[in-house]
Amino acid sequence: MSHEVVIIGGGTAGISVAARLRRAGVRDVAIVEPSDRHFYQPLWTLVGGGRADADESVRPQETLVPKGVRWIRQRAAAVDPDGTRVTLDDGRELSYDFLILAAGLQLDPESITGLNETLGHNGVSTNYRFDLAPRTWDFIQQTRGGTALFTMPPGPVKCAGAPQKIAYLAADWWRRQGALDQIRPILVLPTAAMFSQPQWGEVLRGIAAGYGIDIRHDTQLVEVDGPHRRAVLLDNNTGTKEAIDYTMLHATPPQSAPDWIKTGPLADPASPFGYVQVDQHTLQNPRWPNVFALGDVANLPTSKTGAAIRKQAPVVVANLLAARRAAPPQARYDGYTSCPLVTAHNRMLLAEFDYTLTPRPSFPVIDTMRPRYDMWLLKRYGLPALYWHGMLRGRF
Ligand code: FAD
Repeated sequence: MSHEVVIIGGGTAGISVAARLRRAGVRDVAIVEPSDRHFYQPLWTLVGGGRADADESVRPQETLVPKGVRWIRQRAAAVDPDGTRVTLDDGRELSYDFLILAAGLQLDPESITGLNETLGHNGVSTNYRFDLAPRTWDFIQQTRGGTALFTMPPGPVKCAGAPQKIAYLAADWWRRQGALDQIRPILVLPTAAMFSQPQWGEVLRGIAAGYGIDIRHDTQLVEVDGPHRRAVLLDNNTGTKEAIDYTMLHATPPQSAPDWIKTGPLADPASPFGYVQVDQHTLQNPRWPNVFALGDVANLPTSKTGAAIRKQAPVVVANLLAARRAAPPQARYDGYTSCPLVTAHNRMLLAEFDYTLTPRPSFPVIDTMRPRYDMWLLKRYGLPALYWHGMLRGRF
């Protein structure tokens, strides 16, 4: 089998790029994607916070693969960039003129002792899985007292704001139930900063203080004893460990590139997490110019979000079309990313910035550094509609 363009992964990045390629008149495009379901993951924060149904975040993949694109329902197992071949899980091989890596990242809960086996039980959940986000909401509602832990691991994660957004949604719910006084919420962050962009970080510090959330900086979750509802935190500055008994624990699992990429030739030697090497502006591989990567799998020094992909997809398409004409890549991605920071059941801040951490507001006339109801409506209703009907169709 041979195709002009092969895309590995039919998630946010893969479908967006496929749709744009088709609109640009590229006829022979194939997507390698094993899953028959496509997820809108940003909604999982709201599912975990009791503000949306999980069913709203999923659609059949067959309704989203753009017309004329061949869907190969397999998992890629290896890439040979010198031989321009992809090996599939069933042993078949696909050759390509251009390859686009869009396989997302993998969750590594097993790297925290005891976490994987207790996820979904004993008060422990994560919004990072479709099946578990509703369990987060169950555990939030069941919590009437004690300690509630919200943890973020070291290293890049999808939507770096998500580990703390759920703490705010939970605290807001407990306050409205009159229970917050009996609950000690603790937010565990691996960083010295509250958030990568300092201005929004300061706003978030105030939001957390308003809920009485105890923030542990430079700290990470290293062990969970589910049956005894006990977690062990490691202070990365002092090396000391602290055991904490909890009522509920929302854990963000450590994340990395899929293993087959990590161990393959396209992994960036500079990335401890095995993400794909690309030029941070052109999104082209420096060694194999017919290979591009975007989305969570790409080693880019910006927050991994769907919003970032919205700006990356046109760059990949433009530079692939240039490479096809043997022209140099002209389109540049500036690191734009955006994080809709939900701060309460009906309030949101919209953080938008680029590689330099300079704010990049889409709505310059409104102050998105304060929690707003209109931004909440955008998150709850506007962005999902733009995703399904605009971005995945190559129109937005
Ligand atoms: P994915 O959408 O994960 O797609 C990867 C695809 O690759 C999958 O379909 C998978 O099946 C496929 N695949 C995997 N392995 C293989 C293989 N071997 N061969 C072929 N295919 C393979 N972003 C925002 O912009 N705003 C938010 O508010 C926001 N909140 C979030 C909250 C949570 C809880 C989570 C989990 C994510 C959030 N995100 C948010 C991040 C956003 O969802 C991701 O950045 C985005 O979906 C990444 O897209 P992707 O295409 O790179 O990966």
